[in-house]
Amino acid sequence: MTLLGPAEIRDLAELLGIQPTKKLGQNFVIDANTVRRIVRVAGVTADTVVVEVGPGLGSLTLGLLETGAEVVAVEIDKRLAAQLPTTVQQLQPDARLTVITQDAMVIDSLPRDPTVLVANLPYNVSVPVLLHFLETFPALQSALVMVQAEVGQRLAAPPGSKVYGAPSAKAAWYGEWKTSGTVSRQVFWPVPNVDSILVGFERRELPGTEIERLATFTLIDAAFQQRRKMLRQALSVVLGDSATASARIEAAGLAPTSRGEELTVRDFLAIARTDG
Ligand code: SAM
Repeated sequence: MTLLGPAEIRDLAELLGIQPTKKLGQNFVIDANTVRRIVRVAGVTADTVVVEVGPGLGSLTLGLLETGAEVVAVEIDKRLAAQLPTTVQQLQPDARLTVITQDAMVIDSLPRDPTVLVANLPYNVSVPVLLHFLETFPALQSALVMVQAEVGQRLAAPPGSKVYGAPSAKAAWYGEWKTSGTVSRQVFWPVPNVDSILVGFERRELPGTEIERLATFTLIDAAFQQRRKMLRQALSVVLGDSATASARIEAAGLAPTSRGEELTVRDFLAIARTDG
């Protein structure tokens, strides 16, 4: 056996004296079928260099390593990070794993350039972690992550949809997102009180420069902070006043009376580019 089952997960947690904490989103996968499904959908092979955020007790890590892939795992919890090499060594002695004990929200370098991100993300920080990784590690070409269902739907939402919001528009800066099936609460220990979903990402060419991205994200934040307001009002907060906002929105070929929820990330970029 090269993966962890429910009994092994609980034994390991007991051995380490781990009481899973909500603060760190510690819901561990205890189902080998779910692990293999994630690895298959992610398209990981022996040639892939994977970065995994939050390996925890190693459920998903072992599934990734089983393919022969090289895995760089970033874990904030020191006890979990310290145990992981031992767990892996016992079950898959030839596995290629590097564990880094760090906060994934701020990490800015990795020992290898990973091409794929695979993770069962801690729910409370899943969007900021994803945006941080896509921005910081441009070699990342694709991702397959498990997140809270609402968050996954939001990441993949097109403009005009009810759940389209700032995370949807910002995530679209980097590429295309697609949901790829729900996951039962029963595959986790402890059982979470939210549903989960798999979301896939494929990188596309960036639509603009880093300076343009910052300006675009500022507009997106302003538009969705007052989502019910017309764009000219919502953007006046960052563009000076309503008349200036109207002029710039029109110069971008858009209607000042439209709402942020109707705009693509490229529309926001077009407004940002009317500066000066
Ligand atoms: N991958 C494991 C699995 O599927 O069983 C654990 C997933 S659990 C949902 C999330 C993991 O992320 C936990 O191990 C937690 O300690 C870790 N974590 C939480 N916040 C983190 C952060 N900011 N940086 C790195 N790891 C984090």
